[in-house]
Amino acid sequence: MRKPIKSFLKVYFIGAGPGDLELLTLKAAKIIRKADVIIYAGSLVNKDILKFAKKLAVSYDSAKMNLEEVLGIIEKEKFTKKIIARLHTGDPCIYGAIQEQMDWCEKEKIDYEVVPGVSSYQAAAASLRQEFTLPGVSQTVILTRLSGRTKVPPKEDLAKLAKIRATLVIFLSVQDIGRVVKKLKCGYANDTPVVVVVKASWPDERKIYGTLADIAKKVKAAGIKRQALIIVGEVLRKKGYQPSRLYDKNFAHGFRQV
Ligand code: SAH
Repeated sequence: MRKPIKSFLKVYFIGAGPGDLELLTLKAAKIIRKADVIIYAGSLVNKDILKFAKKLAVSYDSAKMNLEEVLGIIEKEKFTKKIIARLHTGDPCIYGAIQEQMDWCEKEKIDYEVVPGVSSYQAAAASLRQEFTLPGVSQTVILTRLSGRTKVPPKEDLAKLAKIRATLVIFLSVQDIGRVVKKLKCGYANDTPVVVVVKASWPDERKIYGTLADIAKKVKAAGIKRQALIIVGEVLRKKGYQPSRLYDKNFAHGFRQV
């Protein structure tokens, strides 16, 4: 157990959700209203969030900064009683680059807390009206990405994950859809459904439906290069599953007798 840190300054690492401001949690909105300093990842976080901020709050777009510059902003306030809201897109536990910031806060003895957010893969599922875990089809969701400047450990190479044929959600990779498809074909059949959801929950959200055989061509034709998820798996057919046993009238559990 780590010892609780006691500092006057408090940093909140906040999941700002996938885009739609109504998907912000009440907790996040409350902290943003109180915050003296707001650091947001302007490349993906909806800037309208700043409307919640108080007039005197100072805001910074971290899209143009490096880690040291972001930490520098926090360090400057170290001996104040301010509240800093560090906004990350979706939920910060997924490709959020928050661990190094939290470790730094530990080292500097700065108090911090994480506020979860709605991830883009959840917003995409909602938009698709899709359950990712259909009994009899797949009970596993894999969240992954292609190797890019950040390397994926070889044991988690997409070609290997494809062999499991679970429901797969691929982040940060749409710009390389050709390579994605090539790797996926090591496990999934050519006719496996694939959907690419662009800007899930934003007003200009788009969905491109296809199969492993044709999705690369469709995505390239649509000119999609960023802010998209590639979702793969038999669940997307919404067919051939067994209704969950949870609501089966013959299935008793802790909250219901047969
Ligand atoms: N922490 C974020 C992911 C950050 S990584 C989350 O929980 O969603 C950035 C990648 O997330 C993008 O390259 C894209 O693949 C995906 N992404 C983020 N917001 C998105 C959105 N609104 N619609 C589709 N994909 C999104």
